[in-house]
Amino acid sequence: MTISYVITGGTTPDGHQTDVAIDANGNIAQLGPNITADGADIIDATGKIVLPGLVDLHTHLREPGSDDAETVETGTRAAAKGGFTAVHAMANSNPVADTAGVVEQVHRLGKASGWADVYPVGAVTVGLAGEKLAEISAMHDSTANVTMFSDDGMCVWDPVLMRRALEYVKSFDGFIAQHAQEPRLTEGAQMNESALSSELGLAGWPAVAEESIIARDVLLAQHVESRVHICHVSTAGSVELIRWAKSQGINVTAEVTPHHLLLTEDYVKTYDPVYKVNPPLRKDSDVRALRAGLADGTIDTVGTDHAPHTEETKQCEWVVAAMGMTGLETALPVIQHTMVDTGLLDWHGVARVMSANPAAIYRHPDQGQLTETGGLVEGAAANITVYDPTHTFVVTPTEHASKSANTPFKGMELSGQVTDVFYRGHRVVADAHLATPYRHS
Ligand SMILES: [Zn+2]
Repeated sequence: MTISYVITGGTTPDGHQTDVAIDANGNIAQLGPNITADGADIIDATGKIVLPGLVDLHTHLREPGSDDAETVETGTRAAAKGGFTAVHAMANSNPVADTAGVVEQVHRLGKASGWADVYPVGAVTVGLAGEKLAEISAMHDSTANVTMFSDDGMCVWDPVLMRRALEYVKSFDGFIAQHAQEPRLTEGAQMNESALSSELGLAGWPAVAEESIIARDVLLAQHVESRVHICHVSTAGSVELIRWAKSQGINVTAEVTPHHLLLTEDYVKTYDPVYKVNPPLRKDSDVRALRAGLADGTIDTVGTDHAPHTEETKQCEWVVAAMGMTGLETALPVIQHTMVDTGLLDWHGVARVMSANPAAIYRHPDQGQLTETGGLVEGAAANITVYDPTHTFVVTPTEHASKSANTPFKGMELSGQVTDVFYRGHRVVADAHLATPYRHS
């Protein structure tokens, strides 16, 4: 087999300096020292980390319906630049992805873009309205083969519907990803409920609104022996509940966003809506608990909740501004800053929470492959991200590939740069710039 690329001198997550040869079929052909191959392109990764391609279970690509904020094309460009080789597109598009037709459309758009795998998430309920189950089987049986369902943005608050949905997806080993927000406890909520929300005169969003849904849903998952995934965990109490549920053998997985690992409610004092997000930024003690939960495996994965919004919907008064932040292009540097530089995770840990674990939750056969000790896998699909942890930069949204600029990290100095991304053996990012997309045959 012809070798197309050799990545030389980089360090894989197991801590070993290893060359990586990629063949023309898009697979990892060989790992080891001093690999030579006639005619292959050589990528010098000395001093860099060679990770399995990142996998995001929580991305808003906004298409169909809101292509002024993002499209599958621009969102997957952002994904590639951020080191992601697979993203899961949330269902709250317009129309909602609640039929086979819409999930097939998103899946097709993903293949046409060629920057990363796009897996559409199906809605749990028709129109995200929480009243009637969507066509879960039809979406699973479609060409998009959906196994992850979520009303993200809205909570599946009705316990009977949640139970039925959990029972439904069992037949094909699917799962429900819950946006845990008790709606009655969060009516009109604008920020975390705290002394600060009283001081600022903004309606508060109590931690119990998230925690009560998580408590209910882990018990439902236990009762019907199904799988539940908790989106964007944001409170210390939620981490405790998930830790308890796992100790009982309940089939629950959970994610945390980069912004909840770094930012606190104190940013709301600026009244800058770039910090307005759902769930809201919480307290320092929550941030510490989320970091500890990600480090000890209670929280399985980082989900970006990349939520692009136009200037018109973000640069306005706090109370009317849309909720959400972009995140694909800053995720890895923020994880380095919050988890690696703090000594909470090593690069093997990062590879687990940003690649191997989300890939395992979705049962991806060709993403996130990692050996027990954190090595890459010979023969696996060459989904690979080369990362320079020493490069420092100031977050500048105008340099982002995303169509939207609502990053809360704007102006922050961070370390780390994705320099090269191989998606199915094709070099989609070269020297920190987008190269050419992969053409699916
Ligand atoms: Zn959500």
